[in-house]
Amino acid sequence: MVPRFIRPICLRIWDFFVWKNVSGQRNSGTGTGKKEERKDDMKEKLEQLKAEALRQIEASDALEKLNEVRVGFLGKKGELTSVLKGMKDVAPEDRPKIGQLVNETREQIEKVLEEAIAKMEKAAREAQMKAEVIDVTLPAKKNEVGHRHPNTIAMEEVERIFIGMGYEVVEGPEIETDYYNFEALNIPADHPAKDEQDTFYISGDFLLRTQTSGTQVHEMEKGKLPIRMIAPGRVFRSDEVDATHSPSFHQIEGLVIDKHITLADLKGTLAEFARELFGEETKVKFRPHHFNFTEPSAEMDVSCFKCGGSGCRFCKGSGWIEILGCGMVHPNVLRMSKIDPEEYTGFAFGIGLERIALLKYEIDDMRLLYENDIRFLKQF
Ligand SMILES: [Zn+2]
Repeated sequence: MVPRFIRPICLRIWDFFVWKNVSGQRNSGTGTGKKEERKDDMKEKLEQLKAEALRQIEASDALEKLNEVRVGFLGKKGELTSVLKGMKDVAPEDRPKIGQLVNETREQIEKVLEEAIAKMEKAAREAQMKAEVIDVTLPAKKNEVGHRHPNTIAMEEVERIFIGMGYEVVEGPEIETDYYNFEALNIPADHPAKDEQDTFYISGDFLLRTQTSGTQVHEMEKGKLPIRMIAPGRVFRSDEVDATHSPSFHQIEGLVIDKHITLADLKGTLAEFARELFGEETKVKFRPHHFNFTEPSAEMDVSCFKCGGSGCRFCKGSGWIEILGCGMVHPNVLRMSKIDPEEYTGFAFGIGLERIALLKYEIDDMRLLYENDIRFLKQF
């Protein structure tokens, strides 16, 4: 705080005057009365100086100001030093007394100054502690951790089942060309199936895919056989929003291409998938259907996991719930992707992910899945 070096410097200055005092005694002889006056002057001056220093310390409201006072009075070029310079005019015999007085003044100012600095620093510390107070009795901030959306949970469940059967999970683009979304899947430009899947056209040939089936074509074009894949992803159709429709939803596409793949492989695989997803007791039923890219085609129902097949509100009394569409890959589709249908056969299926989530969690309105109402989503 107060530089400690200042005091030794002043003492040395004082020693110097004491030395001068001794040598002065040898040489002096005249003008003693005048020097007597000087002594009283200096006493008075020191008193004034001390009073002024204490007044300034008292008036200081910041540490910087106290530092200014210290430099101004006690510093090398300070007031006290300049008083010492007047020592030469004091009678030699009075010099020790004045010297002592200077030291006392310095000590008093230093003491008050240090006290003021300590007081101010303490106040600053206290203010800081008060400002940064930690109330340990306050409840801790809750770290809200999110969790997976029911769609994601259902998707991961389906992925887990197929990965367990040796399938690869692949992703296709959400923006497709007309060729991959329709034509390569055996849906020519004038086919009525195109109307059923009306979608959002971007420009020219580009559109938002209406089905994940285009991913099949991308995989087949790679020319790496056999194929055993599922392709989960978002698809788009220009549907009105209601309890069972949304312009954007998810499908999980499945495709197997190998030598000697038959309808029995399709049935066995999908029956196993249904049992894994809905329980050991689950039975499956295939109803003939039509899809352009498969032949024969079917829709698969599972026995109602609520009533076990006896009929309830959940299965609308039928005992069965429709869950996916499937079929043997159409030879045209294989040919378009440069695969010889005489050598290779395969099956494909498409699962509506939302449908699985709605069934699994007994949700009766698809819109709930997209509204992102935390109260709803927290339940899963
Ligand atoms: Zn039922």
